[in-house]
Amino acid sequence: MSGKRVWVAGHRGMVGGAVVRRLEAEDCEVVTAGRDVVDLTSQADVRDWMAEARPDAVVMAAAKVGGILANDTHPVDFLLQNLQIETNIVEAAHANDVERFLFLGSSCIYPKMAPQPMAEESLLTGPLEPTNEWYAIAKIAGIKLMQAYRKQHGRDWISAMPTNLYGPGDNYDLESSHVLPALLRKFHEAKQSGAETVEVWGSGEPLREFLHCDDLADALVFLLKEYSGYDHVNVGSGVEVSIRDLAETIARVVGYEAELVFDATKPDGTPRKLMDSTRLHELGWNNVRSLEEGVKDAYQHFLAAEAR
Ligand code: GDP
Repeated sequence: MSGKRVWVAGHRGMVGGAVVRRLEAEDCEVVTAGRDVVDLTSQADVRDWMAEARPDAVVMAAAKVGGILANDTHPVDFLLQNLQIETNIVEAAHANDVERFLFLGSSCIYPKMAPQPMAEESLLTGPLEPTNEWYAIAKIAGIKLMQAYRKQHGRDWISAMPTNLYGPGDNYDLESSHVLPALLRKFHEAKQSGAETVEVWGSGEPLREFLHCDDLADALVFLLKEYSGYDHVNVGSGVEVSIRDLAETIARVVGYEAELVFDATKPDGTPRKLMDSTRLHELGWNNVRSLEEGVKDAYQHFLAAEAR
């Protein structure tokens, strides 16, 4: 990494922003390009920008992302735009001799019925969750591109698959957000209004794994420095909590006691979603903050953003 130019594609997103913050502690030069400078779905834009910027490494945190509803109603956008972004950046990276490429996916690449915890070997062993298969297929293609360039051109390019993320820059919109930011906002608003109850969707029983985006960024920089392999690497916290436990943790952090009201008309989703991060731990990274510490940090950023 020393003295290298690292392009963080997607630096305005939660993950890209975290990677930029983490790279500031490294002896490297971070380069970024906003949407106004380069349209990542445009092959010509990406080709021209890359030829000029000439990065030594690329962290690919750019993607068209969205919740279950968006995925389900705009399948073309999720499949096509993600494929375009990936192929444009990968092709230009090869043309410009980029030494290290870190491609990022998500846990939705694994089959719907994959055994829990989900190990890297589960990839392509069964049908995907139909609501987000468009996004998942594009992400699987990205992993395969890293492998194909390694195989055909000897490129030292790798992939990492993060679990559910949270932290600064998260989406706090109650309609489209994931559970952690949603409950953080709900408890915050209950505290402000003095409401006696907070609504939690589903039964509260499902188990989920959460990782702070700054911990992910730390793991990614570790992988960039230490990992040169054909297979992708899962990045999770290894800690599962029930949605009820999550709500109680958030209540403690926000500092507000309210009765949890479980709304059974809302779906529970999959009962358990945990990644097997053994490979990452065996490589030597295990630097995860506790959920409570992470939620505290997220809440501070949430309050700062509210105050702006
Ligand atoms: P998933 O991990 O893909 O299922 O996505 P979510 O983060 O949206 O939901 C995880 C679990 O949290 C599900 O069982 C939801 O029903 C539950 N949940 C409880 N309250 C909320 C809420 O206010 N918003 C969301 N998105 N999920 C909630």
